[in-house]
Amino acid sequence: MAEITDDARNKFIQAGKIGKLALEKAISEIEPGALFLTAAEKAEGLIREMGAKPSFPVNLSINNEAAHYTPAPNDKKVFRTGDLVKVDIGASIDGYLSDNAATVEVGENGRNSDLIDSTREALNKAISVLRPGSRVRDLGRVIGETITSHGYKPVKNLGGHGVGRYDLHSAPFIPNYDDQNGNVLRPGQAIAIEPFASTGIGMIHNGPGGNIYILSGTKINQDEPVYRNFNTIPFASRWLKDVVPDPASYLRSMIKARQVSEFAILKEHSGAMIAQSEHTILILEDRIVVTTQ
Ligand code: MN
Ligand code: MN
Repeated sequence: MAEITDDARNKFIQAGKIGKLALEKAISEIEPGALFLTAAEKAEGLIREMGAKPSFPVNLSINNEAAHYTPAPNDKKVFRTGDLVKVDIGASIDGYLSDNAATVEVGENGRNSDLIDSTREALNKAISVLRPGSRVRDLGRVIGETITSHGYKPVKNLGGHGVGRYDLHSAPFIPNYDDQNGNVLRPGQAIAIEPFASTGIGMIHNGPGGNIYILSGTKINQDEPVYRNFNTIPFASRWLKDVVPDPASYLRSMIKARQVSEFAILKEHSGAMIAQSEHTILILEDRIVVTTQ
């Protein structure tokens, strides 16, 4: 018996194709002096032009930031030579999501190319051992060993995840090391594998907010404009200008009422560099499909 309908499988695969193109588009916009905002709008614009929606606001996180920065509505940040940029983006077709990421060095000075390679190699190795029935800890072990063999630390309190419909971060957690968890991956599941490698201690903490929000709380009001526009996926303050009359005060009041929360930028300690690579994978009865490859 099929664990996933043909319709769901096809939508996951289409979301993956568009997510991959959007990642390439964002990377093509990154050069010294370019605005973060331009890269974000062009990449998310491509997703919409192709008939999909972003799975979440594009993350453009630099240097010791692991994730969760997206440009603010009038963001003035520009890329500088040597910035290590984690570009993380995905597409949604009818709530079936893709999530993929790559790390680029602005100006390609090569200083962190081995750090980047360690995450790409860890991702490829994890995919090569992934089968229906694999244990998540075995993926974690391959990822951790690969990153360690390059002389870096896998980030322990960050990792991959299940991908559900309109649910970007569902169970299980896919660790970047062997966490002794015996959870098994089964046909019909979609997962994102995302190795993070660090030149620091391999632990991240919450920094300030990064302009990415999500509906939260025990009861979500389905009449809210953000629910009607974005369902339960993360959204950017940038996206609210056509959704509510006064985005800043709307966000303030929703946060105060605990109906919206803001994601914190995830950071290593100062001076440490972090790289990331990510693909979305669909697990079928007899094979896996890397939807973002
Ligand atoms: Mn991602
Ligand atoms: Mn992810």
